[in-house]
Amino acid sequence: MFENSNESRTSLSEYGEFGLIDHLTRNFGVTPENTIKGIGDDAAVLDFKDEKVVVTTDFLVEGVHFDLAYMPLKHLGYKAVMVNLSDLYAMNAKARQITISIAVSNRFPVEALEELYSGIELAAKLYKVDVVGGDTTSSNSGMVISVTALGAAKEEEVVYRSGAKENDLLVVTGDLGAAYMGLQVLEREKQVFKVNPNSQPDLDPYTYLIERQLKPEARQDIPPLFKALDLQPTSMIDISDGLSSETIHLCKNSGTGVNLFEEKIPLDPAVISVCEEFQLDSTTIALSGGEDYELLFTIDQKDYDKIKGNPNFTVIGHMTQQSEGMHLVTRANQKIELIARGWNAMDNKD
Ligand code: ADP
Ligand code: MG
Repeated sequence: MFENSNESRTSLSEYGEFGLIDHLTRNFGVTPENTIKGIGDDAAVLDFKDEKVVVTTDFLVEGVHFDLAYMPLKHLGYKAVMVNLSDLYAMNAKARQITISIAVSNRFPVEALEELYSGIELAAKLYKVDVVGGDTTSSNSGMVISVTALGAAKEEEVVYRSGAKENDLLVVTGDLGAAYMGLQVLEREKQVFKVNPNSQPDLDPYTYLIERQLKPEARQDIPPLFKALDLQPTSMIDISDGLSSETIHLCKNSGTGVNLFEEKIPLDPAVISVCEEFQLDSTTIALSGGEDYELLFTIDQKDYDKIKGNPNFTVIGHMTQQSEGMHLVTRANQKIELIARGWNAMDNKD
């Protein structure tokens, strides 16, 4: 969604590639302790002192990962950064720098890219990362954005997917399923709008869900919280695809099984009520919905007191011997095998 569409439209060709980059990146400064040279040379020069460098990269492709019919470009820029920072926090690292590569067709005016970059700028400011480079090229059809994020961590602080042991507790931050239900609400409004472009949807009851979909926040608060609690998780992953598939990743990488308790899965009341409205099972949505960008991790049982009562964390299960398998324990105390996608409609998602 490009909100300025009635106002000025400056063609990309008016700027030329170099002028465009200068224009879009004019507000990006650098943090001198971490970044020696940012945008403007052949490459950036970074300083990680005595810490290890943690790197991650992700693509966002129009029509596959986002739909500009309801995704404002500013939010898209913000989300593109969040998706990557979330991966750094999932390694228990601090985010330091990002690079942004974009491919755009000339159906987008300069003003559209300004909006995209205003979202990137806001994310960089709030999450204290320097934008240190990127690449700009043309595309024949849609928009493609690729963000690379660099982070720092002491070697002994890094948390991998592979360290969980039998009897470790499985813990999740925040609540689950809201981003997916936000997408369902937006898709429904898009269909209504197609039939009746004058309809004025009342989206108030869905504010939290839509925000979780359009403006996700990565958990930058969690690595410093672990440090303050003197807690080193044994394994960790961020929830981009859904609780079920991320839990399976931890188990497979660690060589364990799991018992995950349905009644423990944290759900916001808005998720429960909108699932009823859409006649969807909220457990299925939390397990398979994805895009929540919460962190899922395991801790040794002896560390339980460090997280007990902390509103950021919910213990949802425990790891078992690999031979016991990976199970969801339902409210009726039945054991169901965990599968990566609980619901067919999501099979083609990525
Ligand atoms: P090169 O020809 O060496 O790739 P470019 O002209 O592509 O150089 O880039 C010049 C500078 O602008 C570099 O610092 C590069 O990282 C940065 N840059 C290019 N495109 C973008 C972009 N879309 N966002 C942020 N920085 C960019
Ligand atoms: Mg280049």
